Amino acid sequence: MRELDFIVIGGGSGGLAAARRAARHGARALVIEAGPLGGTCVNVGCVPKKVSYHAAELAGLFRDAADYGFELAPPTFDLGRLKRARDAYVERLRGIYAQNLERDGAERVNGWATFVDARSVEVAGERYSAPHVLIATGGRPRLPDVAGAALGISSDGFFALERLPERPLVVGAGYVAVELGGILQALGASVTFVVRGHELLRYFDPMLRNALAEELTQTGAKLEFGFEPERAERAPGGVRLVAKDGRELFGDCLLWAIGREPMTARLGLEHAGVQLDPEGYVLVDEFQSTNVPGVYALGDVIGGDRMLTPVAIAAGRKLAERLFGGQPDARVDYTDVPTVVFSHPPIGTVGLSEPAARERFGDAAVRVYTTAFTSLYHGVTQRKPRTRMKLVVSGPEERVVGVHSIGLGSDELLQGFAVAVKLGARKADLDRTLAIHPTAAEELVTLR
Ligand code: FAD
Ligand code: NDP
Repeated sequence: MRELDFIVIGGGSGGLAAARRAARHGARALVIEAGPLGGTCVNVGCVPKKVSYHAAELAGLFRDAADYGFELAPPTFDLGRLKRARDAYVERLRGIYAQNLERDGAERVNGWATFVDARSVEVAGERYSAPHVLIATGGRPRLPDVAGAALGISSDGFFALERLPERPLVVGAGYVAVELGGILQALGASVTFVVRGHELLRYFDPMLRNALAEELTQTGAKLEFGFEPERAERAPGGVRLVAKDGRELFGDCLLWAIGREPMTARLGLEHAGVQLDPEGYVLVDEFQSTNVPGVYALGDVIGGDRMLTPVAIAAGRKLAERLFGGQPDARVDYTDVPTVVFSHPPIGTVGLSEPAARERFGDAAVRVYTTAFTSLYHGVTQRKPRTRMKLVVSGPEERVVGVHSIGLGSDELLQGFAVAVKLGARKADLDRTLAIHPTAAEELVTLR
């Protein structure tokens, strides 16, 4: 039995951050990782997604090139080649993660961890024990419980594709569906978004939801609403997806993007007595503590509506500060978490949507400022996607409680506005900030 100060199960965004910070404070920290280091974000999430997103943006630039005076031969695209470059980059990143861990003095073991009791864990027959054990095991893509589900791929399978599908069906309307479906569409596929409800990104501000649906439709993507998959079956050249109401769709690739499930099975949690919610997520308080003293959880494995890498990293660092850094009150502030959806066009959003603000503060207290325009970049191009922005303010002092933007540049402009929201900015503070011209961001400080 090896004795340590801190055992971290899962070497993804949250686990690595916690272990490194703990080790920097002198704790004997051990990370146990069953798969490649870096977890979802590095291997099958943010990083390969963003590389693919850039490829899709390039495809758009090539389309616009002639409008900017370039004569280009029609470009060809080789997804296999992009995949090889992307894989090599991810491999390099894994190496950097391993080096960082080592540099900070944390140890690493490869293998699947299971709890023996609340203080000890077993990996490949070896036992490790510590007064503090962190569950940072993340999640994995969910497949539906319908006949033929295995004919489809998940986001993990998306990153294994070597060839661009021509007519993919993308089931789901959340982050993963609109991002990966948007990438395929921009790269030249004819995507059908298969949505069981009646809108994309159900929890986002209505302006963002409507604008994204409109822009995707403009690019030729199909949106099939109210389609509840009942079964998938083989069809010549691909897959047929059949709805409960009898509708049928054909695709040469079926991508399930219907959410994720926590990695809490086969972890031996019953030996530690850790409580889960009905969906299998670990129940924690605001300090990431489970019901069992000395056992903590953070990141995607605790669920919620903020399953994002920076959230997992922040939670990991705060926990390490609390346990080993002499900061007994350290905890993450889960309010006003900024987020970007790398859709085409991208979405940046922080704070409350308009309906959420009206519900919280009442109709009389809430005011919105909106704008819609064609960005200068598209002034000379044939394609004319629109940019839309909305500020949601509350009370007589017009405190900014929500910033929502969809359109070129929305991904990069949001971070600074998120700082303003965090500082409690009022509309008047934005107004007295001089604009930067010509940018998209300036519209947010010149709203009338
Ligand atoms: P993970 O990163 O999932 O790490 C958990 C690790 O635990 C895994 O490596 C797993 O192998 C390991 N593990 C599990 N069980 C065991 C066990 N019993 N023993 C040993 N090891 C175990 N977020 C963003 O902020 N921005 C984005 O652009 C973004 N894009 C995304 C795109 C996609 C397609 C997906 C799927 C997710 C994306 N996310 C993004 C979300 C982000 O990836 C996650 O929020 C983040 O990775 C969560 O980190 P984590 O540490 O909780 O879990
Ligand atoms: P989400 O929970 O965001 O979306 C799941 C979607 O699948 C919803 O539209 C849901 O529909 C639909 N759905 C669920 N079950 C079914 C079913 N049985 N049949 C048909 N449709 C179904 O999950 P994602 O996997 O897209 O993303 C998971 C999380 O990962 C995100 O919430 C986010 O935190 C993170 N992420 C972040 C990214 C970023 O920061 N850019 C990028 C990608 C992921 P309905 O709306 O009706 O419930």
